[in-house]
Amino acid sequence: MNNLSWMNVALQKANDSLKAGEVPVGCLFIYNNEIIAAGNNTVNKTRNATRHAELNCIDQVLEFCKKKNISYRDIFHDMDIIVTVEPCIMCTSALYQLQVRNIIYGCANDRFGGCTSVFKVPKLYKSRTTITGGIKSDEAMILLKEFYKGTNPNAPEAKIKKSCKKDTNL
Ligand SMILES: [Zn+2]
Repeated sequence: MNNLSWMNVALQKANDSLKAGEVPVGCLFIYNNEIIAAGNNTVNKTRNATRHAELNCIDQVLEFCKKKNISYRDIFHDMDIIVTVEPCIMCTSALYQLQVRNIIYGCANDRFGGCTSVFKVPKLYKSRTTITGGIKSDEAMILLKEFYKGTNPNAPEAKIKKSCKKDTNL
């Protein structure tokens, strides 16, 4: 499968995240053309601000390596990360420390982006990791807008009220 096809699968994960009341970010970790880990944000469910899609996937890979009794370092070096939104500074840093092969993302993250938008994490590391952005970015952005316009159950109260009001006007 190519990056576009993988991104479609990641967008599906982001959509699941939206339905669960989480920030709609979907992520896949691809190794040897296979999905080794798939995840979305679980910050609200776990009440843990570090539970971003990428870190959830990293934990899945570590579990996978433990079961198979293989070195996670080798696996991460040949791993491609497909994520619907540019990873934040925390996640970009984690991916660079693990020296993943490629980071392929959808839309830019103007608030927290660590690949290029807010801070250029790659400048801090010597790594052959490559970054490609803008893959199906419009679709990723639509999901984020859907979340932030307040139709999710975990949005601040004022935003929910606003959206209810809007509905009665229809
Ligand atoms: Zn993150």
